[in-house]
Amino acid sequence: MANPTIIVHGGAGNWPKNKHAIGLSGVRKAATRGFQILQQGRSAIQAVEAAVIEMEDNPIFNAGKGSTLNFEGNVEADAGIMDGKTLRGAGVALLHQVKNPISLARIVMEKTDHALLAGKTVERLGEAYGLPKANLRLPERIRQWKQARRELENGSIKYFSRNLKLVHDKGRLFLGDTVGALAMDQRGNLAAADSTGGVSLKLPGRIGDSPILGAGLYADNKLGAATATGVGEIAMRLVVSKAACDEMQSLTAQRAASKTVRHVTRLAGRGLGILSLDREGRYGIAHNTLHLCWAAETKDKGLVSQMVGSR
Ligand code: ASP
Repeated sequence: MANPTIIVHGGAGNWPKNKHAIGLSGVRKAATRGFQILQQGRSAIQAVEAAVIEMEDNPIFNAGKGSTLNFEGNVEADAGIMDGKTLRGAGVALLHQVKNPISLARIVMEKTDHALLAGKTVERLGEAYGLPKANLRLPERIRQWKQARRELENGSIKYFSRNLKLVHDKGRLFLGDTVGALAMDQRGNLAAADSTGGVSLKLPGRIGDSPILGAGLYADNKLGAATATGVGEIAMRLVVSKAACDEMQSLTAQRAASKTVRHVTRLAGRGLGILSLDREGRYGIAHNTLHLCWAAETKDKGLVSQMVGSR
């Protein structure tokens, strides 16, 4: 029997100091929720879904309720889930009012033949399965959006002209707080899940890495599991989650995550974080953003959490 393990993150980016404690408490709750499920002998997929739901329902995170807003001030949320045993996985994108996008991704994975569905029609699939709707556009996000639009209009941000510089200078406004989870269950099966409102001020219709298998997340029992956070365009171009999993063929989770982030820094610059989980149940964390907020729970080490970062 394998040692159940879960690791979750609450986003890479720039976490203001006054939000560190609340972010850490949110990821700790999510890890504990997922770990309870693993302890009950339930599957890694159930654990990552439950952990992500916990964070989608917590408005501190940019996922589900609390999703960041696009250029027009609307929510277009993305999520993805993948089962390392069957290599089945699916993403959903451009959701306006599904309370838990991760549950809709699981429905697409389990009930359809597709690996990516976007927009209103997939929301109708959620309705057919009785998924609750919610207003995901919270006052705090509207306030942040108005501020970002003001900065854009007064010329202090050059809208997406050079994403990386933008995110580095103004990361507080543009990313962070996306959520992700990786788990290994008692049978040794791996799973990955993630959910996000995306980057703020994104153009309507923009889909990030989070619902894309290989980019935002990947899980393969024979390799490992990984999930990315940060600038989705980098994660897609370098297929970072699959790359980290491939590295775990010969490296531990930590070495694989660090190597993948070094590769990202060299080829694309700053703006990315990665969690990884190898076949032995060891986890890894690496990032080249200012912060990354994560928590993990295992039998041996119990619940651990950290806001890693330079400031
Ligand atoms: N990766 C997400 C996206 O590009 C954003 C994030 O992780 O903060 O949509």
